[in-house]
Amino acid sequence: MSSLCVLPPECLLQPFTVPQRLMLGPGPSNVPARITAAGAQPILGHLHAETIEIMNQIKSGIQYAFQTQNRVTLAVSGPGHAAMECAIFNSLEHGESVLIAINGIWGERAAEIAERIGAKVNTLVTSAGGYFTNEEIEQALDKYRPVVFFLTHGESSTGVVHPIDGIGDLCHKYNCLFLVDSVAALGGTPICMDEQGIDIMYTGSQKVLNAPPGTAPISFSERACQKIFNRRTKPISYFLDMNLLANYWGCDDKPVRVIKHLNTLIKGLENSWKRHKEVAEYFHKGLGEMGLKLFVQDKKARLPTVTTIVAPPGYDWREITGYIMKTYNMEISGGLGPSAGMVLRVGLMGCNSSKANVDKVLEALADALKHCHKSRV
Ligand code: PMP
Repeated sequence: MSSLCVLPPECLLQPFTVPQRLMLGPGPSNVPARITAAGAQPILGHLHAETIEIMNQIKSGIQYAFQTQNRVTLAVSGPGHAAMECAIFNSLEHGESVLIAINGIWGERAAEIAERIGAKVNTLVTSAGGYFTNEEIEQALDKYRPVVFFLTHGESSTGVVHPIDGIGDLCHKYNCLFLVDSVAALGGTPICMDEQGIDIMYTGSQKVLNAPPGTAPISFSERACQKIFNRRTKPISYFLDMNLLANYWGCDDKPVRVIKHLNTLIKGLENSWKRHKEVAEYFHKGLGEMGLKLFVQDKKARLPTVTTIVAPPGYDWREITGYIMKTYNMEISGGLGPSAGMVLRVGLMGCNSSKANVDKVLEALADALKHCHKSRV
């Protein structure tokens, strides 16, 4: 064999520094030092006794954060999308009917994932900033008779928190599993999986939980287990097959049998919900005083973790986010999916949900509005 034709990359020999930045976009959020320190612990084997103990602790932490007793509760290795695919791939089979509530990009994406496995996808659609009443949901359940109903709890593209009460009962009345995406909301606003009759729920690590991205907590009720462990066909993904994952996590009572930083899950859910609400309201008041408008009209539908602000008229939103990044080393972001070009999004999640951060972002916004170019029209 001749000599190597691809040389060792020079760039990997350079010292690598990551800047400190205030992460006030819709995620990832900042990770406190005690959590980054936990991530720097030595590596253990995946079958070592200590690892199994850590996994059990993580499982209890997730049960607490989700408010569930579900035995099939674990963390998928991957981002929120991995949990989304895990939930959909395991609960639905080719040809089965699914109903997906779309009030932003995450419903759209769930529909795309379900389509890819050949499910019969039915949708309930409303405009960006809106949400569905239980009557509308019941009508659609009656019409489409789905095996799964998908709903986004915190629609981070539009800043809407969807009401959950009563929907679990409706799904059960129509013999359907209730699947909830709470990636952008869990920990920052109330949700109680068992009490609210949710059959499958997942979240992400890099939002309110303030952990690095790459682990996605997920949980399945006994009703969901009846369905997912009695399928006609194997799920399309090996990596996300719950038969294998539940066994690895010791959730299935069969003999067998990482991520220590996830066991630093929020302490005190109720305090966290209260703080996120108060801080969001303080922020919304400050925005109003500056003359900025909130995108979500209905006050009670405003997601406390991610605020959507109507893009200030006459400005280019990119110039505003760019100015704030450059001048304040602070991330805020523009819209996504149906809100693209229409809003600015500010995330105040977990340890970032504080009045001090609100004051910083209000100051940065006021300064940006003074310095960025404003057209007369
Ligand atoms: N669902 C919602 C509601 C989200 O906000 C996000 C991330 N913004 C995801 C799913 C996907 O998560 P991830 O980016 O970790 O794949």
